[in-house]
Amino acid sequence: MVSFTSRAAAGGLRSLAIAGLLFFLAGGLLTGTADAAPKPKAIAVRVTPKLVQGNQYVVATTIKNPAAKRVKGNVAISLSAKRRPGSIKLGSRKVSGLPAKGRKSVLVAAKVAKSTKKGKYFVVSCFRRGGKSTCVSKAVSVVEGKAGPIGPTGPTGKDGTTGATGDTGATGSTGSTGSTGSTGSTGDTGPIGPTGSTGPTGSTGDTGATGPTGTTGETGATGPTGTTGDTGATGATGTTGTTGTTGATGPAYGVGAQTTTPPDPVYPEVGNSGYDAQHYAITLNYDYVTNNFLPGTNTVMTAKNTLGTGLFQFSMDYAGPAISDVKVDGVEADYWRETGDDYKNKLVIEPATKIRRDATFTVQVSYAGQGVSIVDPDDTPEGWLRVSTPGFEGSFVVNEPIGSMTWYPNNNTPSDKATFEFHNTVSTARIAIANGELDSRTDNGDGTWTWNWSMDHPMATYLSTSSVGNYEYTETTGALTGLPLYNAISNNNTQVQKDTINTTLSREDAIIDQLQTKFGVPYPFDSAGAVVDQLSGVGYVLEVQSKIHFPTRNVSAGTLAHETTHQWFGDSVTGPTWHDLWLHEGWATWAAWWWGNAFNGSPNTTAMQFANNYTQGNGSCPGSNKWCTPPTGVDGASLFDNFPTYTRPALMFEAQNQIMGATAFQNLITQWQTRYAYGNGGRAQWIALTKEMDGNTRDARWDQFFSQWLDGTTMPTINPSNFDTP
Ligand SMILES: [Zn+2]
Repeated sequence: MVSFTSRAAAGGLRSLAIAGLLFFLAGGLLTGTADAAPKPKAIAVRVTPKLVQGNQYVVATTIKNPAAKRVKGNVAISLSAKRRPGSIKLGSRKVSGLPAKGRKSVLVAAKVAKSTKKGKYFVVSCFRRGGKSTCVSKAVSVVEGKAGPIGPTGPTGKDGTTGATGDTGATGSTGSTGSTGSTGSTGDTGPIGPTGSTGPTGSTGDTGATGPTGTTGETGATGPTGTTGDTGATGATGTTGTTGTTGATGPAYGVGAQTTTPPDPVYPEVGNSGYDAQHYAITLNYDYVTNNFLPGTNTVMTAKNTLGTGLFQFSMDYAGPAISDVKVDGVEADYWRETGDDYKNKLVIEPATKIRRDATFTVQVSYAGQGVSIVDPDDTPEGWLRVSTPGFEGSFVVNEPIGSMTWYPNNNTPSDKATFEFHNTVSTARIAIANGELDSRTDNGDGTWTWNWSMDHPMATYLSTSSVGNYEYTETTGALTGLPLYNAISNNNTQVQKDTINTTLSREDAIIDQLQTKFGVPYPFDSAGAVVDQLSGVGYVLEVQSKIHFPTRNVSAGTLAHETTHQWFGDSVTGPTWHDLWLHEGWATWAAWWWGNAFNGSPNTTAMQFANNYTQGNGSCPGSNKWCTPPTGVDGASLFDNFPTYTRPALMFEAQNQIMGATAFQNLITQWQTRYAYGNGGRAQWIALTKEMDGNTRDARWDQFFSQWLDGTTMPTINPSNFDTP
């Protein structure tokens, strides 16, 4: 179990990782890794060789940038006695963008103060970036700007040369001082020529670079606006850089709910939404002596994100022993467990990397410790039931409705079916049974063997099993069906008792054949079989998918027919909620009535069963009357009550049989088993298919009929004798 504190710490680490990613992206676009890249360098400086005190000049510095990205910096001009920066500052300017793999002339206005002493100097220009400078210099002399003696006026001196073109983006510089006028043909030296005209305006600054793409948003917010591009270098009218492109809208991430949508009417805290489980690979390493799952035990769920957005967090149902590790797509994930009322047992998982929308992902949960079971509200135990009889220790694993979460984490709702594989390692003194077919059995050479079973057709979690026992185990092939038949009978029986059990189980092949003929669709799975153990206190036989589980040696043919019917009604076609259980149990009851009369010597036809059971109950409602609780009104304690969940819906189906007629009713069974095979079918689908198979001529009457039979709290008045003549 992971505490809140450690979860928060892990979250912090995840945030850091994201920040690091942002830094990396930004670096790639804007600054790169500075250490390894070649550096910009000042390579030349140009200025007039003779500077007059009090005048202003333009100093041009050429800087070469060998790097593969634009860089910024600063150019400073000074006057020095040596070829290194001096104390007489002439001017400086920022360089906001040296082009990648190029060169640029940076022009700086340099003012020579009147107080500057005449003499020989160097003009030193330094490009400074990131605390480092690169300098170039040129020898100049500073002279007095005094006029010569007045002579005869000569021709006017030539205008000064035009000032250099302004730098990209820089304000056009003032033209340099014109050269001294030439001496007049007569008379004294002429006056100093006029100042040259102002240079042309500098060219427009470069457009700023496009800003980096915004990073992917983390929680569905619009991605951040890209940063504004670099402002163009100041020019006469340098344009503002274009706005960076808007970041792509980040995918939204959500949290899968810790219930189904809507919550189950009987077990609202069991089942989860946000994903669709598709496959479970269950690896159990089980010590039958101590009833412990040993290290190496784990379950891998393959699921698809169905949230409609990314999946930030999701939950599984789990009430089993201690978890040591959770991985999502092979990467350690944060997890914790939450429990609450109504059998809430959640394993909440936050993957290190959020699961993308519609993505398929795997969750591996490793766990070890004591096998456990639970008691549900009707006081029956379920889950990993311990068989502790000395010499016969093991597990008897039956899960309806919510016990599967005691021995592996899953989405514990009948609305989320998945395929399964099992790899169960036990002592060679025990047999490990699971759903489906035995693919292989490996002797590990250390006193254990591993039983590899697979159920390739979708299965609800409540129908899974991994029973371990001291069994007499047989694999045969059905003579009528050709199906592999796997039977495991506890050795805690005398040979006579075993013979009795086997005599009944030997009818399974025929029962399957008789039912598949009746239903008009083949047996839905690739094998059949049974587990017959011997432990007290369970109180029910269960239609475990392809392996019917009997908790005692009392195996009756009628029960076998009931549970075999469930392989179609319940196992292949599964009601999506626990309020659809009448579709399973009503059908198993009706079919066992039919089969008992047709093949097992019962004198009662289904019509007679209807006549015998469609009677006023004793007492009034609400109260003790058998009709008070409707099939859709059961709760956890009354879910498996006989009359509302078994007999009443069986009577309803027989009423449908008589109202629709044998042919339409047969079509209804066949179509139900064809259209919804290996999936979910519930109340709405049953009513719609009934109307369709009945020709859609009596839809309103059917609505009244189902309302009374499924929801009413008194004896339904609509029956075969008055359906068309109310
Ligand atoms: Zn049943």
